[in-house]
Amino acid sequence: MAQNSYSAAVEELKSRCNILDVVSPVVPLKRAGSNYKGCCPFHKEKTPSFVVSESRQTFHCFGCGAHGDIVGFTMRYYNLSFPEAVEKLAEQYGVQIESDFADRGKKREPYYDANVKAARLFFKAIAKGRNEGYGYAERRGLSPETIKTFGIGYADKEWNSLTAELRKEGVSADMMVELGLASQKGDRIYDKFRSRLMFPIINTQGKIIGFGGRIIGEGEPKYLNSPESLVFLKKNNLYGLNVTRSEIQKEGFAILVEGYMDVVGLYQGGVKNVTASLGTALTEQQARLLSRYTKKVVLCYDADAAGVKAALRGIDVLRAAGMDVSVLHVDDGKDPDEYIKKHGRDDFIKLINEKALPDVDYKIKLIARKYDVRDVAQSVKFFRACVGVLKTLPPVEAEIYIKKIAAEHGISEGALRSEVTGEGGAQQERPAAESIKAAAPAAEISESDLKLEKTLIRLIMLNSSYYERSKDIQEAFVSDEAVGLKNAFESQYSEGEQFDLDRLKDALDDEELEYLASAMKQIQLAGDDEKAFEDCVYRIEEKRRKARIEEIKDILSMAFGSAGSDEINALTLELSELSQNKKR
Ligand SMILES: [Zn+2]
Repeated sequence: MAQNSYSAAVEELKSRCNILDVVSPVVPLKRAGSNYKGCCPFHKEKTPSFVVSESRQTFHCFGCGAHGDIVGFTMRYYNLSFPEAVEKLAEQYGVQIESDFADRGKKREPYYDANVKAARLFFKAIAKGRNEGYGYAERRGLSPETIKTFGIGYADKEWNSLTAELRKEGVSADMMVELGLASQKGDRIYDKFRSRLMFPIINTQGKIIGFGGRIIGEGEPKYLNSPESLVFLKKNNLYGLNVTRSEIQKEGFAILVEGYMDVVGLYQGGVKNVTASLGTALTEQQARLLSRYTKKVVLCYDADAAGVKAALRGIDVLRAAGMDVSVLHVDDGKDPDEYIKKHGRDDFIKLINEKALPDVDYKIKLIARKYDVRDVAQSVKFFRACVGVLKTLPPVEAEIYIKKIAAEHGISEGALRSEVTGEGGAQQERPAAESIKAAAPAAEISESDLKLEKTLIRLIMLNSSYYERSKDIQEAFVSDEAVGLKNAFESQYSEGEQFDLDRLKDALDDEELEYLASAMKQIQLAGDDEKAFEDCVYRIEEKRRKARIEEIKDILSMAFGSAGSDEINALTLELSELSQNKKR
């Protein structure tokens, strides 16, 4: 029932509002034929491949494959669930949602109110001063201004300080329990947070959605967080972002730290572009949320095993969201908060500039620490582990690191490159591998390309009709030797006649001869010549298709204002057909 009311609302929304009105305020769009194009907000790109179709009321990104309608866009861009996205749009465009779900938005309000009341009581308690909470904040060096900025408060050690007050203010026991402000035993409720410094968790809309409480003195757990509730989803939020997001935008990058105290401590120390995940491993949603404000993140975690693990996970999640990531482990002082207290802002900034390692360097450094490359067996393991990391990179970036690792660790650049880019599978997933060759002319030809040209040579030696038929796929001959052979074939080919091996040999140099011999020896056709030839043709066609996709993307990204709209439409259509073909 609720579902139906929502889909009715979605239909209504689609009839009332134009996807351009939803997308264009946040993604600058330019007309491109009958469509609109811009840089995709969901992955990092410099040339636009994000297309909005006004006629279909959908968007599609040719870079990352993001696709959807107004609701899909609103969900992804604003990091909302389906009902939240529909509610947001419905409110904006005056559409009524008639269902009990519809009241969710309204239903949340009392929860936010209850949290605000609780936060005020906690804040009042710390502001009174001369109590355990105030003393603790003072010892941790928190200034009254910082306490106010972040709304930090104090939950005393009594069992009903908060619950009694909230009850007076009309908050129901059920709601207190649901929000995790109170625990229930039988029909008695009591304060959940006791003897803790309280950090309200506030979303970017300024609503208090939960709390994190740090124990004062000894006790377990050290940090206690609100449970998930109607208003609090940990995975969707970052601590402090409500205060720090404008600083993050201003500085052009975010420092992601482990805990509340690190955020507050760095902020007070003058490093204000800082935020923290909420006691969980960084999630995809948190990465997307952060990527709205910056595309650059410095992970600043403890240097212990847990910190390293969190950094490695963080790297993968942030990279997937299209962000540049580097890692800094603060080793003097246990955490960033202590470091900045001891050394001050300028030293901390200097530390970031000098010591933060780009994510790939960081991963390689961790690998290098594990193996002794002077030992042969271990150096092989080191090599394998590096290949594992490099294979995940875009080709141009991989090439840079291939050179760097080869130089720094004394391993063969060629071997590393052929492992990273060479194998058939890896290359097929990487249409841009060609661009590596262009950038580095000395790059080795991949195994699969060599096998392809040798197969063709073998087939031609078997039956010269394959030479005639291979004229359409001449780019299959890549190596110098194969090109030499091809030229010899060309000059000696005569329709209906087989090649004379002795005559051919006279036309070849030593290397070409050796190459011919190796092709004859290595390629086993097992009688299925026709299938082998068809396979060669198929693989060349695949290469062409991928190259054409890249070409069209280039054209489309450069076509604004110059090409006619018909051409762009045709190219967009061709691109989508070529891309679909890939999936088959
Ligand atoms: Zn995209």
